[in-house]
Amino acid sequence: MTDTAATDAGPLVGVLALQGDFGAHARMLTALGARVREVRTPADLDDLEGLVIPGGESTTMTLGVAREGLEQPLKDLAASGAPLLGTCAGLIMLDRAHLGILDVDARRNAFGRQIRSFEADLQLTGITAEAEPMRAVFIRAPWVAAHGAGVEVLAEVDGHAVAVRQGDVIAVSFHPEITGDDRLHAEFVRRVRARRAA
Ligand code: GLN
Repeated sequence: MTDTAATDAGPLVGVLALQGDFGAHARMLTALGARVREVRTPADLDDLEGLVIPGGESTTMTLGVAREGLEQPLKDLAASGAPLLGTCAGLIMLDRAHLGILDVDARRNAFGRQIRSFEADLQLTGITAEAEPMRAVFIRAPWVAAHGAGVEVLAEVDGHAVAVRQGDVIAVSFHPEITGDDRLHAEFVRRVRARRAA
């Protein structure tokens, strides 16, 4: 395969597939023209140009990351500048207390047991701006309780940050992979392509 063919094949992005709803992310990314690899071991990270960390259960995912020796390789991928997208449990995985890739403190199950699940229409700065809001599905969702100066809040619910960006790392509290609205994934793929072009 020539370099041109490789470039034309679309960016190679990973979806962390230890646990959670990684399949829906993979389908959405494939539809956007990316080549998608499910990531379960450090070797699966080789040559990845970006990574999605899906929703699921952050304690289980943390155990899986430790078991597979993925913590340092994931940090290295982020340090290399590869764009990342974390959703729900994925946001928790990226925070200071977990992988330490995002300068945020996530609060798990922050919306409480009374409202384990709800939906909201959100405008996400730079992503939905001037267009239709995004229907956001929250399932036992975290929020961002605190963040550093380098973190931009893209959306809030009741005054709590539920979407943030730090450089090319975007994290949201909700599940963008289940509504058919692919604008957040498109933004992630756009960032991956932009980095390849640079
Ligand atoms: N409550 C879950 C956790 O703490 C996250 C929920 C989700 O990803 N839908 O890991």
